[in-house]
Amino acid sequence: MKKKDPASRIQDLRQFGEFGGVNPSITDSSTYTFLEADTMVDSFHGEAQGCFLYSRHWNPSNKYLADALAAMEETEEGWITASGMAAITCAILELCKCGDHIVTSVTTYGGTFAFLKNYLPKFNIDVSFVNIVDLDSVEKAVRPNTRLIYTETLTNPLLQVSDVSALSGICKKHGIKFIIDNTFTPLIVSPAALGADIVVYSMTKFINGKNDCVAGAICSSADFINSLSDVNSGTAMLLGPVLDPLRSSSILKNLNTLHIRMKQHSRNAMYIAERMFEAGLKITYPGLESHPQHELMKEIMNPEFGFGGMLAVDLGDHETSYRVMQAMQDQDIGYLAVSLGYFKTLFSNSGHSTSSEVPEDIQREIGLSDGLTRFSIGLDNDIERTWAKMLGCLKETRVV
Ligand SMILES: *Cc1c(COP(=O)(O)O)cnc(C)c1O
Repeated sequence: MKKKDPASRIQDLRQFGEFGGVNPSITDSSTYTFLEADTMVDSFHGEAQGCFLYSRHWNPSNKYLADALAAMEETEEGWITASGMAAITCAILELCKCGDHIVTSVTTYGGTFAFLKNYLPKFNIDVSFVNIVDLDSVEKAVRPNTRLIYTETLTNPLLQVSDVSALSGICKKHGIKFIIDNTFTPLIVSPAALGADIVVYSMTKFINGKNDCVAGAICSSADFINSLSDVNSGTAMLLGPVLDPLRSSSILKNLNTLHIRMKQHSRNAMYIAERMFEAGLKITYPGLESHPQHELMKEIMNPEFGFGGMLAVDLGDHETSYRVMQAMQDQDIGYLAVSLGYFKTLFSNSGHSTSSEVPEDIQREIGLSDGLTRFSIGLDNDIERTWAKMLGCLKETRVV
């Protein structure tokens, strides 16, 4: 298959400001004037194309960012939300009604797992949790009332690779929708081009890359985005998780350097993963041949962006994990913090932080061990120096 160059599609956009500024002007307004009363009435009926009505619906600054994300994903449209969770929950609620059923990967972001497991039962929406790399069990879980399959391209925190094309095939066969969270792999994987109907993002992570705000996005068909934003029935319009335009304008600027950052995150993570592997650590990284879906990852990725910045290491138990993280923080290797896609390395013990919503028995069942430590590798200029410090910490804590 021909590989995609989503970075060039972002670069080719011509988006400039009202007065010719190289950055689009920020529309710092919640409401908009209409020169004629008729136009206002039309805009409530979804007509009056190109007119802005009220910023919970559309804001020009959010529209620029949405257009850039749609260009990146090659989808017809995009939609901006105030968080990744808002993107995920709005996309799911837009598709599902009471009595419907969802098939999802059992390993997902903790908040997503909690929403599917604890929140959706309120609406009598049933959810089957499956091992997403076992395509037979995915298809067997589909029922007549199934509305969608949900997964993450690289699942959190175990970094299983979803077979996007095969899962899309299952969805098409059964006439259901396929939602995929591509937060860990922007540019690296183009899920819509591989058949996903709806691509969701937490822009809080790699896309923004600065850890200075929380934001999300949905990329999909014009039909889906229109229904999501419908004034009378759209989930995003009515639940209202709108992002402030000041923030969306700063995310748009960061999106334009995403390709450089992803390459450096991937380069550094590959280096650390190889050294950890040689040191005998139990390391999971999709760029290593030892990763069970390494070949699949190579098939679905846009190779120039590498295998991503995320890796997971099993350090045995949480006490050891805490000691290593403490030592690494003391050595200024990075921060003991949740979140990812930052210019500095971040590390956290998954079972006791971002996946703590997942009950312990399920954690063990899916292979999320007590010592599993997730790393988001930073943009370090000299990664050999970083590894030397890391090795020092691993020796000091007697891990190696
Ligand atoms: C962080 C994250 C989310 C949630 O995003 P927020 O912006 O924190 O709401 C969803 N999915 C993945 C994979 C994430 O890492």
